[in-house]
Amino acid sequence: METKKRRVLVKFSGEALAGENGFGIDSSILGYIASEIKTLSESGIEVGIVIGGGNIIRGVSASAGGIIRRTSGDYMGMLATVINAVAMQEALEHIGIDVRVQSAIEIKEICESYIYRKAIRHLEKGRIVIFGAGTGNPFFTTDTAATLRAVEIGADMIVKATKVDGVFDKDPHKFTDAKKLDVLSYDQALKDNIKVMDDTAIALAKDNKLPIVVCNMFKKGNLLEIIKNDGGICSVVK
Ligand code: UDP
Repeated sequence: METKKRRVLVKFSGEALAGENGFGIDSSILGYIASEIKTLSESGIEVGIVIGGGNIIRGVSASAGGIIRRTSGDYMGMLATVINAVAMQEALEHIGIDVRVQSAIEIKEICESYIYRKAIRHLEKGRIVIFGAGTGNPFFTTDTAATLRAVEIGADMIVKATKVDGVFDKDPHKFTDAKKLDVLSYDQALKDNIKVMDDTAIALAKDNKLPIVVCNMFKKGNLLEIIKNDGGICSVVK
């Protein structure tokens, strides 16, 4: 049976790119993630990507010392996401994948500006689109930006790619008896304060009936398995 053509938005944090260093970009991780994304693209899945900026700077922490105002800190955070987007663009191109970066803040010497219709056109042509600079507005997160872009491009799901297998009833790193929740509702995630994503992102997904798939992208092949066959190891918020 032929698999239906899918369009997905994959979101991962900037921290994922930092690896053991905890800061900056680890090129072996960059290469690994690019190769996992390539398998999606080669299977005919249309892929949008949002990468966080936490490996470089987060608005909240930048403003913690009281010298940098939160708004400026957030703009710095958005610029960090563009750095990660450009790095990922290089990594994907390096392995032969056609890709474009579109930024919510105009930086025309570096990448295209976000234009919804143009993004759709790239996806239809089989190009991967990396959406940089978050929503372009301070006081938002890249989880919200990813959900917004997923809704805009009509993605079938948003895949929150992490280093854990899904959503657990307690921290799986601290408790050996932590149980993975296969499916949970948006309301449950909001009510129980299960930080799959921030509340704004979950509410936006809920309003637009966008399933949130939480999975481990550091298990080779897991991303493709989940998206292609609705299989693999993950949790779904819907
Ligand atoms: N940011 C913002 N508006 C957005 C998206 C991001 O101001 O629409 C800023 C914010 O300061 C945030 C930083 O960019 O802390 C990096 O994004 P995030 O913390 O979501 O990255 P992640 O935790 O996923 O690495």
